[in-house]
Amino acid sequence: MSTVVTPAPASFDFASLPFEEKLDRFAQVAVHVGLNLQAGQELLITASVEMLPLVRRITEHAYKAGAVLVTTFYGDDESALARYKYAPDASFDYAAQWMADGIATAYRNGAARLGIAGANPALLTGQDPAKVSRANIAASKANKPAMELITRHTINWSIVAGATPAWAKLVFPALSEDEAVAKLWDAIFTASRVTSEDPVAAWKAHSQHLHERVAFLNAKRYQALRFHSADGTTDLSVGLADDHLWAGGGDKSGNGVFCNPNIPTEECFTTPHKDRVDGFVKASKPLSHQGTLIENITCTFEGGRIVKATATAGEDVLNRLISTDDGARRLGEVALVPHSSPIAQSGVLFWNTLFDENAASHIALGQAYSTCLIEGETMDGEQLAARGANASLIHVDWMIGSGQMDVDGVKADGTTEPLMRQGEWV
Ligand code: ZN
Ligand code: ZN
Repeated sequence: MSTVVTPAPASFDFASLPFEEKLDRFAQVAVHVGLNLQAGQELLITASVEMLPLVRRITEHAYKAGAVLVTTFYGDDESALARYKYAPDASFDYAAQWMADGIATAYRNGAARLGIAGANPALLTGQDPAKVSRANIAASKANKPAMELITRHTINWSIVAGATPAWAKLVFPALSEDEAVAKLWDAIFTASRVTSEDPVAAWKAHSQHLHERVAFLNAKRYQALRFHSADGTTDLSVGLADDHLWAGGGDKSGNGVFCNPNIPTEECFTTPHKDRVDGFVKASKPLSHQGTLIENITCTFEGGRIVKATATAGEDVLNRLISTDDGARRLGEVALVPHSSPIAQSGVLFWNTLFDENAASHIALGQAYSTCLIEGETMDGEQLAARGANASLIHVDWMIGSGQMDVDGVKADGTTEPLMRQGEWV
């Protein structure tokens, strides 16, 4: 007698899929997990021309989800560089206000927003830092109304990333361009959690896990966090805003749609008190800010303000950045990320904040998220400031966490309890 042996179903192997199929799965995660795009919504995408294959996939899935119209604004690194080489001086105080106004109008009318990151992180290295700073300020001013709808989480929005040759070569300098691009795509797919058979379910579980951590932190009502690194380069007390709320793992936006604003995301974050940050801190990873690499940042804070900032590369850009306005010298976000995050464990330095901030605890200079305050969405600027939430034209995250970092929670009565040891949750 013989028994019929049914072969075990072939286990899912993402790595063996053709690239087009991997890209398609990634596009579905962007539309259904990142944005959770609703039928009848308009979608605005910003992307480099090098992202065309990904944009086409995303556009297809957006229409299948019922999008009424998908509009993509394409950028191009070479054209951006041409401005610095050939444009008249007046160009650097100019921004396309009409376009920024149109985008803000679209958001107010209910459009969703998807950013696709992937520009060359070092594009503007070597350009005049004064011009870089002026152009950034002009763009920030023009985009302020649209940005506010994002920081207030009025609409569903998300950012994903796509590999480009210039970025890939910076991350994997020893590889050929083709190999580097392929390897960076794989790193993006893994970090973005699209490699399992059912990425939507995987994201649901991941989000749930982060929500549990957020609930734990919210129940603690810490007054401050204290960061202390074993090598003595960081000893920083970050006071938290009154009525601060921790967030992480996706959230419901003002239009009622639950979305994941960053793909990937590993952070729990909240609003620091703009006047209650003291001590010194050294960045644990370099920062690529708008095309300039800023390395080995150190900052000293007094009463919430940076009183001294240094960097071994890009120091001029850093100092111009924190001089943008008064809020640019103060913190608008503090985030905890364990060193065991899959992105940290990959060991890849991405030179891109979307990834590097999800590999390490970090702080952000500038604008606070009003959603990280109890009833913050309903408050005006003055009410937010009274609770300690910072306001600025900029919002720039930089990484301070590592396997060396201890974090304590400081309670209302001044006692402390350990939150992280050597970069891991206690
Ligand atoms: Zn963050
Ligand atoms: Zn941030």
